[in-house]
Amino acid sequence: MMKIKECCISLFAAFGLLFFCLNISAQVPKKIRTIIVDAGHGGSDAGARAENEGSMGSYEKNITLAIANKLVAELKKQLPDTKIVPTRTSDITQPVKEKARIANENHGDLFVCIHADALQLKTGSRIIGYRTQTYTTTRYVGKGKRKKKIVTPHQREVAVRQYFKISTTRKGTSTLIFAARKTGDKIKAMENSDIFFDTEDNDSSLNINYNSPEWKANALLYTQNYFKKSYKLGSLIQDEIANTARENLGVWQRDKGIWVLQATQMPAVLIETGFITTPDDERYLNSEKGQQEIAVAIAKAIIKYKDQVENPKILPQAGNNSSNNY
Ligand SMILES: [Zn+2]
Repeated sequence: MMKIKECCISLFAAFGLLFFCLNISAQVPKKIRTIIVDAGHGGSDAGARAENEGSMGSYEKNITLAIANKLVAELKKQLPDTKIVPTRTSDITQPVKEKARIANENHGDLFVCIHADALQLKTGSRIIGYRTQTYTTTRYVGKGKRKKKIVTPHQREVAVRQYFKISTTRKGTSTLIFAARKTGDKIKAMENSDIFFDTEDNDSSLNINYNSPEWKANALLYTQNYFKKSYKLGSLIQDEIANTARENLGVWQRDKGIWVLQATQMPAVLIETGFITTPDDERYLNSEKGQQEIAVAIAKAIIKYKDQVENPKILPQAGNNSSNNY
C-alpha cells in the first residue's frame, strides 16, 4: 500500500505530465488530414439557371459538379496523404443538411463548397415585324328615328415585339465566408450586394429562425472558432484566382443564407466561381479549360493554407496582428 507522501508525489508527477502534454499539444500545429469538397446543389435542386437570351441554358448544379470533381482529382494528386471527401460525385439530390452531415461525420478539417452565381435578369424587347390590325370607328348620323349608326373599318400597322431576358455583364470569382456579425471593414458584408443568392436561402426545409437564441449562439460559436481560418483560406483562394486571367471579386462575409458553412464544425468557404448569366463567364465555366483552371487555383490555395497551418512561422512578439497568427 502506498504511503500518503508517495501518493502525493505520484499525483504531482501525474499532473505535471498532464500539463506538459497539454502544453505540447497546444504548440503542435493542427494537421489538415481531411478536406471536404462540396459540389453545390444537385438532383432536383438545380441551383441557378441561365435563362438569358443566347445562353447555354446552364444549370448551376452541373457546373459545380464538374469543377468539384476536378478539384477532388487535383487534391488527390497533389496531397496523396490527405483524405479528400467529395459530398457528391454525380447528379444526386442532396439537401444542405446532408452535405453538413457528411462533412462533420468525416471529421473534416476544411470544407470547400463550389457554387456559381446568377444575377437577376431584366426583360428586354425588340420589334421583330409588323402586322396589320383592323379597328373600327363608330359614328351616328341623323336624329330621332332616322338616327343611323355607321361603323367604319380602318387598318393600321402594329409592331410585333419579342421579349427576352437580357444577359448580365458582371464577371469574376468571389469567396463567401460565414460570420455571425460584421467584422469590420476589412471584409465586405454581403447584405447590400445585388448578387442574387440562389444558394441555401431557398432551402425551405431548413426553416431557420435567424432571431432565435440557438441560432445566434451557434453562429457566434462558429465565428469565434473558425472565422479567421476561413478568411485566411478565402484570401488565399482569391489570390490564386487573381493569378489567373479571371477577375478577383474578393472575400465577402455573410451572416445569413449560407447555412451550410456554419453547420460544419471546421473552417469553411463557399466559392462563387462565376456568373452563369454572363455569356463570357458561362462559356468559361462550361469549358474543360475553365473548370480545370479554377480547380487548380483552388487546389493551390488549399495546399498553401495547409502548409501555413502545419508549419507556422515563428512570429516576433509584436506580430499579434500578423496573418500567420492563425
Ligand atoms: Zn449555388
